[in-house]
Amino acid sequence: MGEYDFIVIGAGIAGMSLACELSAKGRTLLLEMESQPGYHSTGRSAAYYAPAYGNDVVREITVASGAFFYEPPAGFTDHPLVNNRPALFVATKQQQQSLQKTLNASSHLELIDRDAIESSVPIIDKGIITQGAIDYTGGDLDVDGLMQGYQRLFKQRKGEISTNSTVVALQKSSAFWRVTTTNDSYQAKTVVNAAGAWADQIAILAGIKPLLLQPKRRTAMLVDTPLHLNSTDWPMVIDVDEQFYLKPDAGQILLSPADETLSEACDTHPEEFDIAVAIDRIQRICSLPVEKVNHSWAGLRTFATDNTFVSGFDTSCESFYWQAGQGGYGVQSCAGMADIGCFQITGDCGLMSEQRIKKLADKLSPARFS
Ligand SMILES: Cc1cc2nc3c(=O)[nH]c(=O)nc-3n(C[C@H](O)[C@H](O)[C@H](O)COP(=O)(O)OP(=O)(O)OC[C@H]3O[C@@H](n4cnc5c(N)ncnc54)[C@H](O)[C@@H]3O)c2cc1C
Repeated sequence: MGEYDFIVIGAGIAGMSLACELSAKGRTLLLEMESQPGYHSTGRSAAYYAPAYGNDVVREITVASGAFFYEPPAGFTDHPLVNNRPALFVATKQQQQSLQKTLNASSHLELIDRDAIESSVPIIDKGIITQGAIDYTGGDLDVDGLMQGYQRLFKQRKGEISTNSTVVALQKSSAFWRVTTTNDSYQAKTVVNAAGAWADQIAILAGIKPLLLQPKRRTAMLVDTPLHLNSTDWPMVIDVDEQFYLKPDAGQILLSPADETLSEACDTHPEEFDIAVAIDRIQRICSLPVEKVNHSWAGLRTFATDNTFVSGFDTSCESFYWQAGQGGYGVQSCAGMADIGCFQITGDCGLMSEQRIKKLADKLSPARFS
């Protein structure tokens, strides 16, 4: 039976990034039930870095992660992980209150008027969209580049990954966890639960109280850019009440109805209804003819009940660590979250200061649900 210091369950961005940091401190095994890391939520995101998105804790960790994305460790990647693309939160006359709330929440945002909105995204109807808030610090994230970079570094540090390995049992003895997968059994002093939508199920296997995490389905699709237009430099356009968003994507336009439909943990798929809702909501504010949907997909965004991440040892067990509830922000926050996890598990951090992590600890702790 293989013996490790740390076993991380789940090779999405949360598990991959934390496993990479832990592998610098001890023998680390990353277990993934699918044949590929990143198969679930991580591989289905809109791949955007939005420092002005989410609550104050999410935004703080996202901004901290930006330092990693813009200056990753040597050898992590040979091309930029973020390509600048502003985030434009748009509002109708009826949404002025929401716009003000959004502007108040983040110092990254600037007010922008309807003419400036129309000149940056010419399909928007400025008779309907009256104002917006723009964040020039946002950008497209190279999720695959991030995953590859973490995986490469993890392997250089002698970290091991086992794919097609579903964790089916977790037993705690006095000093070790025994982790049983569909293929094998392993032992580790510390187990990290980074199983995304399945994190509560992993807790139950370990005899630990679930946190009532809520997986919610979100749909995305790609449509053609109108022939006479070049959308390359358009900002990401987000309804200020998050009823839809659109974003240029390699010559096409990515649309989402920003749906949040409660779901079981599963390999989710898009529903025709949500695709129709996205097109309808977007066509209400802009002229975007959609003759066909070129590709559509859906993924699960898994939230704690207060919409903040869960990072910390379980209150009932000092060797069971939660890295869960990444919601709609798991990619943009991964570097900061991995740093926080590494500090809480090993006492070492790099990206964020010890003081800053300690200040965030209570807000992230699973203890807030007990
Ligand atoms: C449409 C959409 C758009 C999004 N856009 C963005 C965006 O622009 N920016 C952003 O930051 N975030 C975005 N998100 C959210 C982001 O994708 C998630 O927050 C993030 O991917 C969560 O990562 P994770 O590692 O927690 O989960 P996952 O990627 O789902 O990883 C969990 C892993 O655990 C594995 N696992 C589960 N159970 C077991 C088991 N028993 N044994 C072994 N392995 C197991 C799963 O197979 C899975 O690979 C978006 C999400 C969606 C769906």
